[in-house]
Amino acid sequence: MVLKAQFLSDELVELEQQINRYEGLLSSGYKKLKFPNDIEKDYDNKSNSLFIDSSRSILSFGVLLYLFFGFVDYALAEEQAGTLWIIRMVIAGAMLLTINLVFNRRLVHWVIKFASFGMVVIGLSIVGFMALVDEPYAYAYHLGLIPWQVFVLVVLRTNLRAIAINSIIVYIAYILVSVTKDFLPYHPEVDELVIIMHPLFTVFWGVLILMGIYLGYELEKTSRIAFVKNRLLSLDAQRLTLLGEELHLLSTTDSLTGLANRRHLENCFDSEWRRAIRTQDSIALIMIDIDHFKKYNDLYGHQAGDDCLRQVCDSLKEYAQRSGELIGRYGGEEFVVLLPRMTLVRAQVLAESMCSRIAGLNIEHGESMDNKVTISIGIAAMVPSIKDDPANLLRIADRCLYRAKADGRNRVVS
Ligand code: GH3
Ligand code: MG
Ligand code: MG
Repeated sequence: MVLKAQFLSDELVELEQQINRYEGLLSSGYKKLKFPNDIEKDYDNKSNSLFIDSSRSILSFGVLLYLFFGFVDYALAEEQAGTLWIIRMVIAGAMLLTINLVFNRRLVHWVIKFASFGMVVIGLSIVGFMALVDEPYAYAYHLGLIPWQVFVLVVLRTNLRAIAINSIIVYIAYILVSVTKDFLPYHPEVDELVIIMHPLFTVFWGVLILMGIYLGYELEKTSRIAFVKNRLLSLDAQRLTLLGEELHLLSTTDSLTGLANRRHLENCFDSEWRRAIRTQDSIALIMIDIDHFKKYNDLYGHQAGDDCLRQVCDSLKEYAQRSGELIGRYGGEEFVVLLPRMTLVRAQVLAESMCSRIAGLNIEHGESMDNKVTISIGIAAMVPSIKDDPANLLRIADRCLYRAKADGRNRVVS
């Protein structure tokens, strides 16, 4: 139990360090959108798994929409419509398979990367259609880039980097195609309008991307703050649990020996007693007292007395191992072992073993008859009924202990 208390406070110190670290992050660490490596990894995991839950259906919907716009191909690109359809089907098929089969917890690190790669492919395919189609309407494909861009912003909202990379790649591809391709003349007035719209569209789209990047920054920042706050909440909850455990341990443990204290022992005795009445099992009490301990203190000093107490207790602890069994410090150098479901005969065997165990420690004691520290033991056991008084069992054990002392010490009386 002493060990356990140590373990608890070590854990508490560690928890508090973590809490301080996260509090530090909360005051400054999110502005660069990068946590220290270990926390960044946790955040990445968390945002990827959130992404699986929140984006699977909207991604599937987006892909279907992309497929649905294949009908437009027949209006805009009569001859090449078949080819475009095949391209759409291949891309959409691959994406739907990925979204619905590959998106799972095992590949959690890759989910956002997968999705953004897929969205780049779709964006590039729209630009590609513009390049491929020979009909005069080819330029009309640029309109498809608007819903694509909005879709990217919506789906990748808290992932600034993915938004920026996606948008810029497709934007550059669009500029390259629109600058290098000679669109077929259609009607002089319409052609003139297209020539005016080209640069305007490019500029407006650029502005949309910049706004999207700003939005992404703000949303990612918010999502990082929420992550840190959540972490802090759960760390605080863990800390409270630990504090509670520590408090419980402190209030039930004797600090010198690490055994249960008297109050805890009495509480447990009380509930085991009632259980024994219900189940009609025998319950045993072993009362232990160190022989001539006052003389030990007088001879070797109080400090040595404490050490001796600890040594004796460490050996006795091993005797209360089954569930419900408990050993506690009842008084100065007096201990009680509570043994539910234990008969007098079996308790006697156990007590004899305790006696020889302590004598076997060979702790020198110049004023004891065997020249070593020994213990005397009194035992009582019974199957209690509702009209019995638990204090009586204690009294019997105490009387037996008294007899063991009177009979010459270092012995068991039951
Ligand atoms: P007996 O064999 O009859 O039990 O004799 P005893 O001397 O062991 O019994 P007594 O009850 O007269 O003395 C108990 C002594 O235990 C008195 C006290 O100095 C010592 N003691 C009680 N608690 C502690 C403790 O926490 N540390 C130390 N060092 N000594 C303690
Ligand atoms: Mg004593
Ligand atoms: Mg005593």
